[in-house]
Amino acid sequence: MTDKMSVSREMFNDVMVPNYNPAAMIPVKGEGSRLWDQEGREYIDFAGGIAVNCLGHCHPAMVKAIQEQSQKLWHLSNVFTNEPAIRLAKKLTDATFADRVYFANSGAEANEAALKLARRWALEEHGEHKKQIIAFSKGFHGRTFFTVTVGGQPAYSDGFGPKPGAVEHVPYNDLEALKSLISDNTCAVMMEPLQGEGGVITPDADFVKGVRELCDQHNALLIFDEVQTGFGRTGSLYAYQQLGVTPDILASAKSLGGGFPIGAMLTTDAIAQHLKPGTHGSTYGGNPLACAVAEAVFDVVNTDDVLAGVKHREALVKEHLQRINDKYHVFDEIRGKGMLIGAALNEKFEGRARDFLQAGNAEGVMVLVAGPNVVRFTPSLIIPETDIVEGMKRFEQAVAKVAG
Ligand SMILES: *Cc1c(COP(=O)(O)O)cnc(C)c1O
Repeated sequence: MTDKMSVSREMFNDVMVPNYNPAAMIPVKGEGSRLWDQEGREYIDFAGGIAVNCLGHCHPAMVKAIQEQSQKLWHLSNVFTNEPAIRLAKKLTDATFADRVYFANSGAEANEAALKLARRWALEEHGEHKKQIIAFSKGFHGRTFFTVTVGGQPAYSDGFGPKPGAVEHVPYNDLEALKSLISDNTCAVMMEPLQGEGGVITPDADFVKGVRELCDQHNALLIFDEVQTGFGRTGSLYAYQQLGVTPDILASAKSLGGGFPIGAMLTTDAIAQHLKPGTHGSTYGGNPLACAVAEAVFDVVNTDDVLAGVKHREALVKEHLQRINDKYHVFDEIRGKGMLIGAALNEKFEGRARDFLQAGNAEGVMVLVAGPNVVRFTPSLIIPETDIVEGMKRFEQAVAKVAG
């Protein structure tokens, strides 16, 4: 064994760019939905690496996949193809509307590919006038300059100089606003089928169908960003499968790799033809290690057992949050779907979501926020019920501290 340098949270401030402000402890080990920090303190993980660790930490099927692949082949580049990438693409296309897959390394990159493809499709099929991209306020699509511009949060997109043009926003769930903006010059509408980062905002019953109809009327592509909602998160492989609406392009990441970086853009045969050789690419996209892990995740997640389990756990988590709220009166609304749940704070606790996150850490439970007013829960899709019960016990103690 080589001796590794010992590190502390203080060192972060000396050696890292200050764009993050991580928690005071450093987790060092995880198993299922539990984590341990440097001091050996245990945490129940309701954060799931921000909707990434869909099978918890160190799931045996994922460990096996990475061990096996790590002894065969790590990287080739796209000068060559590889078996895990083709297998994963076959499984993704068999399980969805899509005929074709482009692999990337993150959600932002999958969305970047989606947007570039939409623009190229519009240019070649219709002409230069068809370039408008419409997206929704409070949307989040990643941190590249194009995706952050399409995302509806000026705090993330402003202050970096001139942005990519012809991108406009309307409020989510406001079909009339979309109707008055969309035209034959619209190239694509990009949306999350349930807004995650923006505050766990559920679409109204007919909203998504209405967006699809408007896109059809104006020959615009509908792009679903399922980076957070996808891969079982809401109880089906992708959220669109429960909405009665099919997108033209879909972006997947986060849970897709279960903790290994990978992104994918899915689309139809006809649209895919516009990404001709040389138009787009990525050194690591379709990396064999990433695809081998994602294939293992797919095989576990895309089963009736796991997907039905997500709905069962959703009910359980919501019951616990309701019970806690009946006692402490901190939430206005408990919402979301599957293992993507938001507890929106009431007026009295406005702007204090982070206090609940920090109090949770102190009590041994990890939760997330989604903006200043929503406490977010995105645990593993297979979190044991005993861990939900224990984690909620700890979260209740955290709520009692903040409320008291
Ligand atoms: C997290 C997220 C992204 C960005 O994914 P990265 O892997 O961080 O680039 C994009 N869209 C949605 C909906 C997300 O939740």
